[in-house]
Amino acid sequence: MAVAEKQITGKLVRISGPMIEAEGMLGATMGEIVRVGKLGLMGEVIRIDNDKIYAQVFEDTSGMFLGEEVSGTGVPLTVELGPGLLASTYDGIQRPLITLKESSGDFISRGLTALALDRNRKWEFTPVAQVGQEVMGGDILGTVPETGAILHKILVPPRVKGRIKTVAPAGEYTVTDTIATLEDGTNLQMMHKSPVKLPRPFFKKLPPNQPFLTRQRVLDMLFPIAKGGSSIVPGGFGSGKTVVEQSLSKHSNAQVIVYVGCGERGNEMAEVLTEFPHLEDPNTGDSLMNRTILVVNTSNMPVAARDASVYTGITLAEYYRDQGYDVALMADSTSRWAEALREISSRLEEMPGEEGYPTYLSERISAFYERAGTVICAGTQKEGEEPRMGSLTAVGAVSPPGGDYSEPVTQTSMRVVGGLWALDASLAYRRHYPSVNWNRSYSLYFDGLRHWFEENAPAGWISRRQQALSLLQREAELQEVVQLVGPDALQDTERLILEVARLVRDVFLQQSAYSKNDASCHLDKCFGIMELILTFHEEAEKAVRREIPLSRISSLPLKEEVARTKEEPNEGFVEKKDALLERIKLELGALEAK
Ligand code: ADP
Ligand code: MG
Repeated sequence: MAVAEKQITGKLVRISGPMIEAEGMLGATMGEIVRVGKLGLMGEVIRIDNDKIYAQVFEDTSGMFLGEEVSGTGVPLTVELGPGLLASTYDGIQRPLITLKESSGDFISRGLTALALDRNRKWEFTPVAQVGQEVMGGDILGTVPETGAILHKILVPPRVKGRIKTVAPAGEYTVTDTIATLEDGTNLQMMHKSPVKLPRPFFKKLPPNQPFLTRQRVLDMLFPIAKGGSSIVPGGFGSGKTVVEQSLSKHSNAQVIVYVGCGERGNEMAEVLTEFPHLEDPNTGDSLMNRTILVVNTSNMPVAARDASVYTGITLAEYYRDQGYDVALMADSTSRWAEALREISSRLEEMPGEEGYPTYLSERISAFYERAGTVICAGTQKEGEEPRMGSLTAVGAVSPPGGDYSEPVTQTSMRVVGGLWALDASLAYRRHYPSVNWNRSYSLYFDGLRHWFEENAPAGWISRRQQALSLLQREAELQEVVQLVGPDALQDTERLILEVARLVRDVFLQQSAYSKNDASCHLDKCFGIMELILTFHEEAEKAVRREIPLSRISSLPLKEEVARTKEEPNEGFVEKKDALLERIKLELGALEAK
């Protein structure tokens, strides 16, 4: 590798699981990557004590001996950035994993340096920058059609600046061929490296006011988050966190997805790997894998690499944001990352904080979510030109033990993210999926998105949303009454509320991730279902006020017909909905007291 090697070499004096200590390392720096032992396992310096370093090792340390050599590399943990990232599957330190499915133990031999980007593959480069042009980090040198969906922008690396001396003509190049030179002698390639723990620079953060549409009704209508926003999905085992993360990867309106599988079972990732290549990207019709990067550190892989996987993932996401794309990062599960921090911290014998987590847990979690955002990308800002904008939306699964949200990872995350999609074990138990608890969930982005919904969603979106929330609230109050004094205490209008709220729950809020037509629900259909239910309520209430018994209203087939609409496809939904809407008004309006 063409990095300046500052050869510091010391001796291994202690091995404690994923953590090692080495002496004779004077001059090593915090965060520096070291090579450990004969195998040259990759580790990261996390504490320095005179000439002694403590490092977390990203690979299995078994079978190593005290006295083996440890050497510094002079560089921090970095990732390779350039064409060829999309459709790839990497481990936590960005080594390509080819066959996850068939392996069970180590996926890659220990100590192996596998290059993240293929050095032989040629890419079709079209220059954009011109000779004589002053450029800075973030400016576009040229483009490469990376996949059918994504035009890769070859960027000047962060912190590089100068005047262009040469630019390669259009043609085929590998990621290490020089495609531009600067007058100061700098050679630029299609790939560059970026340290993962340092956020990539941008020009300016913007207020989030465009929605990150998930195509999940409960989220898009009741708790929408913004592009560039962040949200957590806390829930106990089996409550549906992974299904939510995967549904968002498939159906959301992000252009690029980085999916970090962190500390969870391998078979879930295998599912993604087998399924995604056969699915269509909803934006482009290309294979879904062609907009996706998978970073995998499953439960059977070394614990320290979980920490790396989270940073690797977010750096890859930032890189596509810098090219001007809407990127979404899915992290499943951030609790396993926190547990890795806890394990390393306890091996370092640090003073533990709450529940044994390190005292810097909240600092790490906030720094992670702060890397989300909508930005004006780095690069020369030209007057009169539309700035290039990109966004990074982060959605983190949280696995609170026993589903108890008072634990530190959930609490800390809730303080920094703008969306809470709270999964509920009792809903999951009743097979109400997604098991998003509508009383507990919230989005702080809604006010910023109000204008977008007014302009772009079906007319009446905001008021229907409000009515839906009030109805669910009213249902909760009435249920308390029923519990206290029994159902006989309710009047027909109140019983009607319970019936309609039930429709909202069963038809609108429930959405099967496995239904062909319902897994992804567009705004028209989302709104349409809500409009049908609420119109049914309005007309039924009028009928009740005309003294029509509720039993007669309920015996009409209208409710079932409303329920069946969720299996209708998005296309052509509005016409079918309008027809049913008319019938609801006619049939309920025609009911007469006998
Ligand atoms: P977790 O990651 O929280 O442990 P999973 O996401 O693996 O839970 O979900 C557990 C199971 O719940 C899934 O295998 C699936 O059967 C069911 N499930 C979860 N969400 C949905 C959904 N939206 N639609 C249908 N089934 C779901
Ligand atoms: Mg899971």
